Amino acid sequence: VEDRRKALGASTRVNHPPEVELTEGNRPILAPIYHSAKFTMSAEKPYWDQFVYTRISNPSLRRLELLLAEMQKKEECLVVSSGIAALTGVFLGVLKSGDHLITFKELYKPARVFIQDYLPRFGIATSILSLKDLDQLDSYIQEGKTKLIHFETPTNPNLEIIDIEKLIKIAHNRGVLVSLDGTFAGLHQHTQFKTDLVMQSLTKYANGHGDVIAGSIAGSATLIKRIRDMSHYLGTTLDPQAANLIERGLKTYYLRYSRQSQSAFKIAEFLEKHPKIKWVRYPGLASHPSHRLAKKQQLEMGGIVSFELQHDLGMNAQDFCHRVGLIQLAASLGSTESLIAPSLTFFGSDLPPDEAQKLLMTPYSLRLSVGLEEPEDLISDLQQALF
Ligand SMILES: *Cc1c(COP(=O)(O)O)cnc(C)c1O
Repeated sequence: VEDRRKALGASTRVNHPPEVELTEGNRPILAPIYHSAKFTMSAEKPYWDQFVYTRISNPSLRRLELLLAEMQKKEECLVVSSGIAALTGVFLGVLKSGDHLITFKELYKPARVFIQDYLPRFGIATSILSLKDLDQLDSYIQEGKTKLIHFETPTNPNLEIIDIEKLIKIAHNRGVLVSLDGTFAGLHQHTQFKTDLVMQSLTKYANGHGDVIAGSIAGSATLIKRIRDMSHYLGTTLDPQAANLIERGLKTYYLRYSRQSQSAFKIAEFLEKHPKIKWVRYPGLASHPSHRLAKKQQLEMGGIVSFELQHDLGMNAQDFCHRVGLIQLAASLGSTESLIAPSLTFFGSDLPPDEAQKLLMTPYSLRLSVGLEEPEDLISDLQQALF
């Protein structure tokens, strides 16, 4: 081999670097990142059963998919380039022209916008209910037309909880698929339910370090194949380097989620007692309207706390975001650092103000994502901002 290389010119050599062989049993503990857009194929197997081209398949992406399917107790998983690509993948992969979708007002804003502004272009109609209308859900199902019910729990930003078992029962009785946006609950919760599809923004708790955008869809092999086949043409591929960062983040996922849940509970209790706070929403507080349901269907309550300032403080939500110091103003959640955002500006600006108000989004309401700092330091920060 050495001799053959010697015969090659400089430009040929730099494009074919020397190969480093590993003896059997001498393997890296962390698998390498397959940072290659293309693969050469063996003649032994059909080419399309092998890794061919990263837009279609890549070992680093596949490893993450297998891990995520396992964590969520689903048969299959597809990773994509963002949480939103996971959402659009579900809608475009499952629905076609003439179909009907049911969803809820209490939804992540970009999901609501895509459903309202873009799905009609493809001839897909939507009914948007309130989570409080669960008892009427059956009457909104159009025989032969309604194909999917999409929902979140806990919802973004105000942590409403929906009865998943009840929703699935109504949907499946009428042959309708359900998809859950599991971003807030994470990868380890709600796995006991027969959700057909669960999509995630891996950008949040899964990665945890706030340095990557990614998403995933998990479900049956049949449904995921349908979505995967389409994703090859939509081009929503995740970068292998990003997949590796998600895999690294997942190593501490359970530790982070638990610690963030514990700290969020302490902070929620502090805010609830504070005279300058109008209300606090945290599923772990007995005052949460669905506290019992949350305790029944969740293992942990998560790291998000929502609250509203009293209106007569001469300070609105935006002002408050600039008065906290350790806690930083930012749109994301589930990071190691604590982040805060004014709810109306970030999550409700597409809604008429009275609709937003019904969903508890006012110029005084905030969403706090609790990080891994000492909870006492975070409480001091909130205390000084409220002074
Ligand atoms: C962030 C988020 C998304 C979108 O994920 P991206 O990774 O930002 O594309 C979807 N759903 C929920 C509930 C989210 O919080």
